[in-house]
Amino acid sequence: MKIIVPVKRVLDYNLKVRVKGDGSGVDLANMKMSMNPFDEIAVEEAVRMKEGGGGHSPGSATEIIAVSIGPDQAQETLRTALAMGADRGILVKAEGEVEPLAVAKLLKAICDAEKPGLVILGKQAIDDDSSQTGQMLAALLDWPQATFASKIALNGAKANVTREVDGGLQTIAVDLPAIVTTDLRLNEPRYASLPNIMKAKKKPIDVKTPADLGVDVSPRLAVVKVADPPKRKGGVKVKTAAELVAGLKAAGVI
Ligand code: AMP
Repeated sequence: MKIIVPVKRVLDYNLKVRVKGDGSGVDLANMKMSMNPFDEIAVEEAVRMKEGGGGHSPGSATEIIAVSIGPDQAQETLRTALAMGADRGILVKAEGEVEPLAVAKLLKAICDAEKPGLVILGKQAIDDDSSQTGQMLAALLDWPQATFASKIALNGAKANVTREVDGGLQTIAVDLPAIVTTDLRLNEPRYASLPNIMKAKKKPIDVKTPADLGVDVSPRLAVVKVADPPKRKGGVKVKTAAELVAGLKAAGVI
C-alpha cells in the first residue's frame, strides 16, 4: 500500500511568534522553519507501517511519498521526511500563503495520479491552526476520514482508528483508501540519524507547479488583522493565606 504524507514547512514550534508592526501577519524573516510537528507524527506512523513497529506488520506500507506545497525551501522539509524514512518527495512550488482548500485540491490531484491506500496528514498546521485540509481532502476524494488519531490498526481492507474525543476515546473502522489526521499521542517521532540524512540527499524529489496539477491557488480569504495577545499585568505578593482569600473574594474569583 502506498501512503502519502503531506508535510508543511512552518515556523519552528520552539520560537516565539513575532507579529509584524503593521499587523499584517507574522514576521518570518530570518526565523527557523521546521516541519509541522503533527506532520512529523504522520511521517513516523507511515515509516512504522513500512518497517514494522507501533503494532504494524512490516511491509504494511510499500512506498511513502512526502508532499509539500510551498516555496523552494520546502524541499528542506521534504528532505527531513526522506531522512525519517519516506521514499520520495513531491514539491508543489507556491509562494505565499496557500489556503487549506487549495492545498486539498492539489493533494487530490496528486492522489488521483498516485492512487495511495492511505493519506496521513497532521490534525492541524501550527501556523494557521486551520484544521481543515484533511477534512476537505476527504470530501473532494469522497473517501472516509478518521481525524485526531491516537492509534491506527490496519486490518486488511480497513483501518481501525482510535480518535481522541472530548472525555475519552472512540474507535472507528474506515474502508481504505482513507484519510487519517494525527493527534499528539499517536507516536513519538524519531530523529533522523546522520547516515539517513546523507541517504536522503539521494532520494528523488519531483517538482511541480499548481498549474501542472490544474489548480488555481489564488487566495479566497483576506487577513484583516493579526495582533499579539494582551500583555499580562504584574501580580501582587500576599503575606498570608487570609490575605490571599480576601484578595480573591475582592476580585470576585471566589
Ligand atoms: P491545516 O488544515 O492548515 O491546519 O493543515 C492540516 C494538515 O494539512 C497539515 O498538518 C499538513 O499535513 C497538511 N498541509 C496543510 N498545508 C500544507 C502544505 N502547504 N503542504 C503540505 N501539507 C500541508
